[in-house]
Amino acid sequence: MVNCIFCKIIDGEIPSSKIYEDDNVYAFLDIGPVKKGHSLVIPKGHYPTLDDIPEDKLKDVIIATKKVANAVRLATGCDGYNIVQNNYPASGQVVHHLHFHIIPRNDHDGLPAWPAGKYSEGEMDKMLEKVKSKL
Ligand code: 5GP
Ligand code: ZN
Repeated sequence: MVNCIFCKIIDGEIPSSKIYEDDNVYAFLDIGPVKKGHSLVIPKGHYPTLDDIPEDKLKDVIIATKKVANAVRLATGCDGYNIVQNNYPASGQVVHHLHFHIIPRNDHDGLPAWPAGKYSEGEMDKMLEKVKSKL
């Protein structure tokens, strides 16, 4: 049995501000919100990353994410929202139980945008072929 904070939240061992629950999915407010209303949607099964979850289970999580995101949008009156999903520590993943962040956003809210990089001549085509070969 893994020692996982989100599994404990699902089991009710750790309290949470639950927004939504069904047979396969659990959604709750993030305790350290980037913006107020920041929410998390998780599968009830323990899958560390997107690479680990079977497609049928993922379907339930993403459908619930859409539903909860709409509720967050209406409740906060935000102008937009980010769906963020970190995989492995290099990405910033801290809790190793797959989760989708819903982060409400407002026009000119001051949160930093990701920097845009650049490919050198021919590099983008090489990357394209490399990625396609792994499908
Ligand atoms: P990650 O960096 O792994 O993508 O995101 C983990 C998120 O889980 C963070 O935004 C953090 O605030 C949230 N979090 C961590 N522990 C708890 C907790 O005990 N309760 C709630 N509601 N959120 C948590
Ligand atoms: Zn877990």
